[in-house]
Amino acid sequence: MKVLVVGSGGREHVLCWKLAQSTKVTKLYCLPGNGGIESVAECIDIKSDDINEIIRFSVEKEIDLAVIGPEAPLVEGLADKLIEKKIKVFGPEKSGAKLEGSKIYSKEFMEKYYIPTAKYKKFNNPEKAKKSLKDFEPPYVIKADGLAAGKGVLICENIEEGIKAIEELMENKNFGDAGEKIIIEEFLDGIEGSLLCLVSKNKIIPLESARDYKKALDKDLGLNTGGMGCFSPNPLFNKDFKIYLKNEIISKIERGFNEENIKFTGILFIGIMIKNNKAKVLEFNVRFGDPEAQVVIPRLQNDLYEIIDKTIEGTIKEKDLKWSDKKAVTVILSSGGYPVKYQKEKIINGLGNTDDDVIVFHSGTKKVDEKYLTNGGRVLAVTVLAESLEKARKKVYNNIKGIEFDNMHYRKDIAKL
Ligand code: AMP
Repeated sequence: MKVLVVGSGGREHVLCWKLAQSTKVTKLYCLPGNGGIESVAECIDIKSDDINEIIRFSVEKEIDLAVIGPEAPLVEGLADKLIEKKIKVFGPEKSGAKLEGSKIYSKEFMEKYYIPTAKYKKFNNPEKAKKSLKDFEPPYVIKADGLAAGKGVLICENIEEGIKAIEELMENKNFGDAGEKIIIEEFLDGIEGSLLCLVSKNKIIPLESARDYKKALDKDLGLNTGGMGCFSPNPLFNKDFKIYLKNEIISKIERGFNEENIKFTGILFIGIMIKNNKAKVLEFNVRFGDPEAQVVIPRLQNDLYEIIDKTIEGTIKEKDLKWSDKKAVTVILSSGGYPVKYQKEKIINGLGNTDDDVIVFHSGTKKVDEKYLTNGGRVLAVTVLAESLEKARKKVYNNIKGIEFDNMHYRKDIAKL
């Protein structure tokens, strides 16, 4: 089978790494890929948002299966167009991707199907939004409706900050059209979790749990990032809680998919806030989280191609998924200054120094003359599977000592419970 993976980050590296192990896959392409992905797939310089070029390439190369990593091409309808060309796609069509593409749509969906979530109001007029702040308690949670590369949620301590956030989104258009409409919602406190699911023709099958670390600095200080580390499984997801999630969230989403005539095959990543063993949904993502993928996929013992194929055919069962009992930890090595301003093109040394059972996924690198250079905010994800979380954690941090690039930064407290 000829398989195409769309994307260029650590998530796409782990997808390619796992698909390359499949006996069914004869040729693997990644568009555009990165320095590390080159070692497991043929990388072609087509950007993941260049829909027409991706279609042209897929038809020309007679691709059998396309696995779409990032949200933007899904929201643009890449899956629909590939399906039209009779290519199998792992990733939802536009009707499903809208759950991530529009926060207003996703809140309306949750409301309609009684899925627990924070109370909210939607706005398309900045003056009305500013006046309505007083109807909420601080801190104020203000969200751009559209995709804003993970930066469209602003949490404001007081009315002044709230007004500034509304101005930035709606008047200064810091995130372009994404901020034309916004929502203001109730602040939820609790512990955040993420529920990763496989969706097979609208049937939702939870995958193994994970916990990620969003803040840039130790002790959850500093700015929000795409994610600085992760571990799996997450002990919060015990048997009772999983039953609760199935009854209160998952089955309601399945009902919504069917009644709204949504076509969803791929990954649904449900962000939740947990308090007193109950949960409210913060958001939907329609693809793997990064770095969640780097700890969950390495624990999957099945052939990933077969699992994806069965998912698309609608024949997958929860019991088909075989998971390693080992615990997985990944720590992100980032460019100093990320997520704000950082430099690229720093030489990465020591990639050959890691132990044989350490997997280094590349998030933002490029390969030039046999050398790897940094090429993004998040650069590498150092991953280990071991009998215990503590062993995995120690091994990750021991191996990081051998890797080095200018201004390298990483959190020292990942998986430290
Ligand atoms: P979202 O993209 O909607 O998941 O929001 C990004 C992050 O903002 C979440 O991971 C939470 O940390 C935070 N967040 C979003 N909505 C809320 C809320 N209603 N209350 C508290 N924190 C929130």
